[in-house]
Amino acid sequence: MNPMEFDIQMGRLRNVFGDKNYPDERTKLIWSEVRDLPQYYFAKLCDRFIGDSRQAPILNDFRTEAYQFRLHAKPAKTVEPWKVVNPGCDTCFDTGVFLARSKTNPGPWAFRCACSKGVNDPRKAIPHFTESHRAEFVWADPREFKGGA
Ligand SMILES: [Zn+2]
Repeated sequence: MNPMEFDIQMGRLRNVFGDKNYPDERTKLIWSEVRDLPQYYFAKLCDRFIGDSRQAPILNDFRTEAYQFRLHAKPAKTVEPWKVVNPGCDTCFDTGVFLARSKTNPGPWAFRCACSKGVNDPRKAIPHFTESHRAEFVWADPREFKGGA
């Protein structure tokens, strides 16, 4: 938010709660607490103060709100396509398919994972891992097969 956007909202608060509640010194302190909030968020906050507060919100009210915003603000997501981001499934690493070794043939053998990624995987030719496979196949780390096995 820039200083002009801040002044516009403070003008609204002065209209409702009176100039005497927002002398320059207090206004400066409020600015220092809320300057990193986005304009839309500060405007919404002022809507709420105007709508719901019986008394003029003071520095601590702004500080509490700014703290809440920072607490819930999500850091910008960095995308590294070569890495699995937040793997939800540690069987297939969110690829929908996992590899297994057979007790008689080292494989690798591919199976569709039981997680939602696996169920929705478009590669219909890949079989689901069922109870009957359990006796013969064991899950294998895909890194074992790097470089051709
Ligand atoms: Zn999975």
